[in-house]
Parts: sequence; structure tokens; C-alpha cells
Amino acid sequence: MTTRRALLSAASAAIATSLLGWRTAGAWAAGTFAVTHSEAEWRKLLTAEQYAVLREAATERPYSSPLNDEHRRGTFNCAGCGRDLFPSTTKFDSGTGWPSFWLPLEKAVETERDTSAGMVRTAVHCARCGGHLGHVFDDGPPPTGLRYCMNGLAMGFRPAEA
Ligand SMILES: [Zn+2]
Repeated sequence: MTTRRALLSAASAAIATSLLGWRTAGAWAAGTFAVTHSEAEWRKLLTAEQYAVLREAATERPYSSPLNDEHRRGTFNCAGCGRDLFPSTTKFDSGTGWPSFWLPLEKAVETERDTSAGMVRTAVHCARCGGHLGHVFDDGPPPTGLRYCMNGLAMGFRPAEA
């Protein structure tokens, strides 16, 4: 009986969470990650724009990121914790105005269902610090058919050694 009651209260907590709109990423918000900081610490570590994207799941204006035009060989990493996320070999021009990739590095990112903004989408966050990166869609190019639509503000770029 206790188990059933616990399950029920977990379910109502989940419903309450989903009513918070863009804060929907319940599992994400409650998640524990290898790199964690308090909200105040994150605000010190990140710019206001980075904080809005990584910690509040905001979306940057399309065509606003210099990373759209980053075509060198190298690795895109998390602006929150430095975790390598995408090799430049998986970047493609999606025409959306956001840096786009067809495959992340193994275990670099995790996803969760996102019902904010009146849409059902799959949000993508960094597996190490939980920072919100963007969304993944199934209209990408081969070989995966996936389109990881990322916020440039959530990432840095490290060129490959010559
Ligand atoms: Zn991270």
C-alpha cells in the first residue's frame, strides 16, 4: 500500500511539474549530474544569455550564433562544463539558423520530453551538467536522419590540433 501511495504522489508531483510550462523537463530539473552548481554559482559562471539557455531552456534568436559559420575541424563542447558534445564532422547546414548536427559523441547528451510552447518536442541536455542545449528532430540527413538543433550560446568550439 505504501508503495502505491508513493507512486500516486510521485504521479501528482509529475503533473504539477508539467503545469510549469517551459520548466517541464521534470526529470531534467530533478536530475543529478556529475557537474552541479547552485543557481547563484551558475549565474556567476555563465553570461546572462548563456544562463537563460543552459539553465532556463531559452532559445537563442536564429542566425545569431557565430557557431553557425564555424566550419573548421574540431569539437563543439558544452559552455556549462566543457564536456565534448559534437565532432565537427557531424555538423551540417540545416538552413534553420541554429548550429545543427546529426550525431552527438557517445553518452555526451541525454534527452527528455518537452511539452513547452504548445509543442511536443524532445529536448537535449548535457549528460555531465544537465545544461539545456536545444532539441532533436527526426528530419535530419543520413546516416542517422536526426537533426540536433543546438543553441550556439550553449556551446564552445575547440579547433583540432593541426
Ligand atoms: Zn555540460
